Parts: sequence; C-alpha cells; structure tokens
Amino acid sequence: MITYLKEAKRKNVILSKRKIVIIGGGFGGVKAALELAKDSNFDITLISANSDFRIYSTLYRVATGGSMKLASVPLEEIFTNRNVKLVIDTAKELNRENTTIKTGNGQIFTYHALVCALGVTTNYFGIKGLEEFSYGIKSPEEANALKDHLHKQLITDGKTDISYVVVGGGPTGVELAGALPDYVKKICKHHGLPKRKIHVDLVESSSRILPRMPKDISFRVKHHLKKSGVHVMTNKTVQAQTADALMVNNKPIRSHTVVWTAGVTNNPFFTDHNFQLAANRKVRVDQFLQAEPGIYVIGDNADTPYSGMAQVAIEDGKFVAENLKRITKGEAPLPYIAKKPIYVMPAGPRWAAVLWGKVRIHGILGWWLRRAADFMAYRDYEPWHMAIRRWMAEDEEEESCSICNDKLSRVLYESGSV
Ligand SMILES: Cc1cc2nc3c(=O)[nH]c(=O)nc-3n(C[C@H](O)[C@H](O)[C@H](O)COP(=O)(O)OP(=O)(O)OC[C@H]3O[C@@H](n4cnc5c(N)ncnc54)[C@H](O)[C@@H]3O)c2cc1C
Repeated sequence: MITYLKEAKRKNVILSKRKIVIIGGGFGGVKAALELAKDSNFDITLISANSDFRIYSTLYRVATGGSMKLASVPLEEIFTNRNVKLVIDTAKELNRENTTIKTGNGQIFTYHALVCALGVTTNYFGIKGLEEFSYGIKSPEEANALKDHLHKQLITDGKTDISYVVVGGGPTGVELAGALPDYVKKICKHHGLPKRKIHVDLVESSSRILPRMPKDISFRVKHHLKKSGVHVMTNKTVQAQTADALMVNNKPIRSHTVVWTAGVTNNPFFTDHNFQLAANRKVRVDQFLQAEPGIYVIGDNADTPYSGMAQVAIEDGKFVAENLKRITKGEAPLPYIAKKPIYVMPAGPRWAAVLWGKVRIHGILGWWLRRAADFMAYRDYEPWHMAIRRWMAEDEEEESCSICNDKLSRVLYESGSV
C-alpha cells in the first residue's frame, strides 16, 4: 500500500500539469471528456477521426428508413461552451518518450495522461469477396449505403432480391434481420410493387443465434424472427462472396444484398504501437484501466469482462475521469469494478428481448425499454431539450418511408426510365 501511495504521489506530480489528451470521439472518449470538462483544472484535448458522435445502436434503423440524425450528433454541438479542445483528425503516432500524440495532419499534442478510446474495426477474416461485395452497418455512411441499395434495387429491378442475407447472429445481425422484412414491404408498397414474400436469411456460425446470451433468450428471439419471416441458419460458415451469391457451407445463396455483421477486431493503433494484447486482441489493462502508467485504454479497446458495449464504454469513460480527478487532488485512485450491462435486443418492429440481471422481458415492453435506453444514450451526451427532440424524431421517421424524399429515384421511377 505504501509503495502504491508513493507511486500515486509520483504520478500526481506529473498529472498536476493536467494535460489530458483523449483519442477517439465515441462513447468512451466523449464521456471521459464531458466528465473531465466539469473540472476547470484540466486542459482537455479530444482528437476524433469523425466530426460527429455516432450512436451505433440506431444504425439498423438508419438502414431501414430512419434519418441519419438518429445516429449522428455533431461533436461541436456536444462540446459547445465546454472546456474541451476539439481536434478533428486521426491519432497516428504515439511517442512514449516525449509523451506526445502526432495526428495525420502533423499536429503534435503533449499529454500528462492519455486516454485511448478508438473503438473497433470490421474484420472480414480474409474471406474472399466480402469486403468488395457485402454491405455493413458499422457507420452511418455504411447504413445509408445499404438503404440506398435497397431502394435502388427495387426501383431498377421492379422486384425484391431473391434473398436478403444478414451474416452474424449477434445483436446487430438480429436487429437488422428483424427490421428488414417490414421495411422492404414498406418500400414495395410505396412504389406500388406487387406483394411478394420477402426472404431474409440470418446466417450464424454457432449452434444458435445470440450465442453469448442464455439459451432461452436465443430461443425466444429465434422464434420471433421466424414469425416475422426471417430464416435462421445456424452452424453455417461463410466461405466466399461474389457479385450475386454468398457461398455458405459449400452451397451458394443467390443474393445481391449481403450484410456482414459477423466480425470486428481491435483498432490497429494498438498493434502499431506495441501495446500488450490479450488473446482476444484487446489491450491488457490494470485495475485502473491503465495499459501502462499514464496511458488509459477504455471501452471496446480494453480487455475488461463486458467490453464491446456502449454502456461499458460510458462507465469506463466516467471511471477514468473520476480517477484522474482523484489523483490530481492527491487522493488514491479507485479500482475498476466491471458492471454487468443490461442487454436489450430488438428483433423486429415493436418487439425486443431484455436481459436485466436474472430478469427477462420480451415483446412490446422490451421494445419500450429499448426506447428508454435510446433516450438515456441521447441524454448522456446532449441537454434535455435536444435529447427529447432527437428521441421524438425517431418515431416520426419510423412512420415515413425515406424514398418519399428521394426525388431523383421518384422522378426516374415515375417517368419509367428505370
Ligand atoms: C451496429 C452496432 C450496433 C450496436 N448496438 C449496441 C447496443 O444496442 N447496445 C450497446 O451497448 N452497444 C452496442 N454496440 C456497441 C457499442 O456501440 C460500442 O461498444 C461502443 O461504441 C464502444 O465505445 P468506444 O468509445 O470504445 O468506441 P466507439 O464508440 O467506436 O468510438 C471510437 C471513435 O474513435 C474514432 N477513431 C478511430 N480511430 C481513430 C484515430 N486513430 N484517431 C482518432 N479517432 C479515431 C472512431 O472514428 C470513433 O468515432 C453496437 C455496435 C455496432 C457497430
């Protein structure tokens, strides 16, 4: 303990300069910046590759008719009148000796404590054709590209795809597969296309969807997806993709719409800078979420028990900010205690499964809990009035079909040019 306090005291001397550099403007990084900004003793720089804060849990809605507004909040808006210097740039080089971060544009920032919250990137596991031909919903741009594709395909072909394939039976794949049949029907109706059966395949390599959830939840969700017209395929491995088919267990599934949600990997920044990685490629951290003295790694990047969820990244951001404040005041930092998240998984319109400790909730009540969670996510980053407006906009968007606003497509379709 004495050694530990001596060490804390030593760090305190360094941290008294209070220059905190945060890299990554997502759930963890933005939360850490907001919490630190409440204390005027810190000089905070947030370096983010994107100019907006992205709410990934709403991306499946963007892909199925919702507005981009739902998933993207300008960082400028979040940090108006806050004690945070916002830098829209990519963190490229970490110089441990000089304690600096150099960005893609060549700017150099000195830190006394560095917080890394860079999120994960898509992993195609080297499967041939996937990167070229599949769609994704890992960013608002990807979600919008998928939505555009769904519209254009219906307009140009005048019929639905043979099959809409979602690969990955985790929460993201389940959300999207559940929402697709209803949305495709909606846009068909809008264009007066004949009613057809919409075929959605959900492909999962494990023996059940939601393999990290208890079995009864997997079973319930699978049952609900089936009722909504989703064909759940388990124990199926994707081998390759071409322009018009996906090879699964040596058989082709004919489709021009394959969405890959089955793999992410840690940000390459950590291998590039020789961080110590666990077997899952996340960064090993100590009880204070430090990868090494003065360098904190949080959210999806850290090898913590429930890493990979927004709630965890938010808690990590708060935790690190609190400890930095404590250290600056000369107090001992507190050890990290991982909190079990609440799992809320929508699987179609107005239906969600919830796992809250030992409690399970399914159906419309689950869906309302999801809506409440969405609101909390907005409220965590925006003032009440803005969070309420964004949250209310979700319902308005859901009722409308976004192709109604796509003037070019409408003109082409109505003139018979396509
Ligand atoms: C489609 C989808 C749906 C999801 N749904 C849910 C859900 O319902 N519930 C839930 O709890 N979790 C959900 N998650 C997971 C959740 O979004 C993540 O766990 C959370 O975003 C992690 O926060 P983070 O701060 O670690 O990383 P992120 O939020 O990913 O933020 C990282 C940020 O760093 C930026 N960045 C990357 N590299 C650099 C660099 N070199 N320099 C500067 N900036 C950089 C990125 O652009 C990004 O803005 C979902 C994820 C996805 C993809």
